[in-house]
Amino acid sequence: MEKSTIKMFDLETYRTLTEYNGDILFEWDLETDRFFVTPNWFDIFGYIPSSYHFSDELEKKAMIHPDDIHLFKEYIETIHYNQHDLANRKLYSKLELRFRNVYHQYIWCKLRLATAFSSRNLPYKISGMITDIDFDKKHRETLLDQAQKDLLTGLYNKVTTHTLIEDYLHSSPTTNKHALMIIDIDGFKAINDNFGHLFGDAVICDLATSIKKNFPDSDIVGRVGGDEFVVLVKNVTKGEWLRNKALALNIALRRSYITDQKEYKISGSIGIAIYPIHCEKFNDLFKAADQALYYAKETGKDKYVIYYPQLPKVEYRNPRTNSEDNLSQGKKSFHDNLTEYIFKLLYSSVDSTATIKIILEVLGKRFNVSRAFIYERSTDGNHYSIAFQWCNQNISPIEHSLKILAADKVEKLYAQLNQQNMLNCSNVNMLNANQREFFEIENIQAFLHCRIIDSGIPKGCIGFDECTSPRNWTVEEIDILTFISEMLTTFLLKKNAVKKTKEIEANLVNILHHVDAWLYVVDKYTYDVLFVNKKLNATIGQNGGKVKCYQVFHNSETPCSDCPMKDISLSSRHSVKEFYDNAKNIWVKMNASRINWNDSSDACLIQVDDISAQKQLEFLPMN
Ligand code: GH3
Ligand code: MG
Repeated sequence: MEKSTIKMFDLETYRTLTEYNGDILFEWDLETDRFFVTPNWFDIFGYIPSSYHFSDELEKKAMIHPDDIHLFKEYIETIHYNQHDLANRKLYSKLELRFRNVYHQYIWCKLRLATAFSSRNLPYKISGMITDIDFDKKHRETLLDQAQKDLLTGLYNKVTTHTLIEDYLHSSPTTNKHALMIIDIDGFKAINDNFGHLFGDAVICDLATSIKKNFPDSDIVGRVGGDEFVVLVKNVTKGEWLRNKALALNIALRRSYITDQKEYKISGSIGIAIYPIHCEKFNDLFKAADQALYYAKETGKDKYVIYYPQLPKVEYRNPRTNSEDNLSQGKKSFHDNLTEYIFKLLYSSVDSTATIKIILEVLGKRFNVSRAFIYERSTDGNHYSIAFQWCNQNISPIEHSLKILAADKVEKLYAQLNQQNMLNCSNVNMLNANQREFFEIENIQAFLHCRIIDSGIPKGCIGFDECTSPRNWTVEEIDILTFISEMLTTFLLKKNAVKKTKEIEANLVNILHHVDAWLYVVDKYTYDVLFVNKKLNATIGQNGGKVKCYQVFHNSETPCSDCPMKDISLSSRHSVKEFYDNAKNIWVKMNASRINWNDSSDACLIQVDDISAQKQLEFLPMN
């Protein structure tokens, strides 16, 4: 056969040079279907491909990723059937494809191809070079992803959301309808103010997950401000469907957090405008949806409003914050840095109960488990009881016999399963009948528990249940439970210490109320009355809004000259004074003692006794 005079590659000549680079050279003889490759193919892919029946091998062994194979096939078709295209490409082509390695992982490679043609213009050989670009490609993809995503929630950031929606609307025929939703969280600032910024971050992530879950992946969902999100709901056909969707989102965004008996509620207000009915241009559509959002805010919040041209313009103004501010604050993705966030969240928490609840909720949703829970061991060590639990949709909370567990049974289970501080069970059917009984009552199919240990003593455990099917727990899930269980040790101790202190305080107040003496507590420096016991309260009656001790007890506008607190100093924590109370016509003895009251160490407990009878005895003439 007459061959083309163009010599594309000379393997022997280039081999040395390319091998320095780690590049692989190959030749595919199209007539014999034989494939020759330099040995460094093995270094990258861990095997050497057969040199026979290459086209069969390519298909059968899925040597190229199924999503990329079309690129390679297009090239082959071009060289066989589309000579015009080929002339334009100068016989040479560059492709980026994924090749499979021996471990069935696909590696990104750059493929440089050149075809040799016979004088009758028939292709007879493809030669080329393969370069491993896996690291570069993945690194580029990560950078692109990072640049496009909001770091806190993993949703698209403001710029990308706007660009994606603008591009999509631009290429959409006006016969298709799409709804633009702007969502702003109601009452979010109070969460930040009362639970701390990190807690607020966790709430934003939780809300972002709920919003994302409400829409298919093909819709565009982004975070465009601090507590503001945007969704482009594609291809809306029915108004009623859209209204139901918006209502479902309203319901999904309702949350309530409790601290110190006070409840903080948040919800979502939604403004909606429809392409192309209300506007065709993105900016105009955004303004229309924004106007609808403001109307929803002004008329009561926690609702959705669909724009219409006569919609009244309202005063409400949203001081927009930028979600990209997160970048400048050096924040990392909540989900990529869950452990770091949980650490910070626990240590900066204002309200430990609310913090633990949100951590369980974030984890439960992130790993999509049926339940996430914490058991605490009783102080006498005899049993474990459920302290916190979060349940997924359609899963009922742990009830019945699992709510309180006998400590010896729990210890036995750890010992039997021989997993020191972790119970990892992917399928309860693998347990024996005795062990299974624990879990079957609650229809648990798989579970992962991790002990909370303090100074070698088990204090509780944190865990996940899966009630829908058996489940292999991932390394990430195991790692995160281990991490949190370590964190919780100090945290639960702190929480219990605070609880104990509050109990002691309540008992102390109770005692003071029942002492048969006039007692009150005053701030040594401000003279503010902090506490008055029942007996004294009954004597003084209504104080008419007076707050200072000299006002309440001595009807004076200035501190008393013989105030017993004046004698209290750093060295002396106690003072006693006796004087005649002209107003009441009695002799009194005042005992002032410096005490800690709530968070203040500048308080004095003052006991007032009527010592008139005793004084009369003193003044009686001695016989
Ligand atoms: P309204 O009901 O009117 O929407 O008021 P709001 O309390 O929700 O407060 P508004 O929407 O006016 O402001 C949002 C607040 O969100 C302001 C800021 O304190 C907070 N915020 C903004 N970005 C972040 C963030 O990244 N993390 C946290 N934790 N808070 C943020
Ligand atoms: Mg808001």
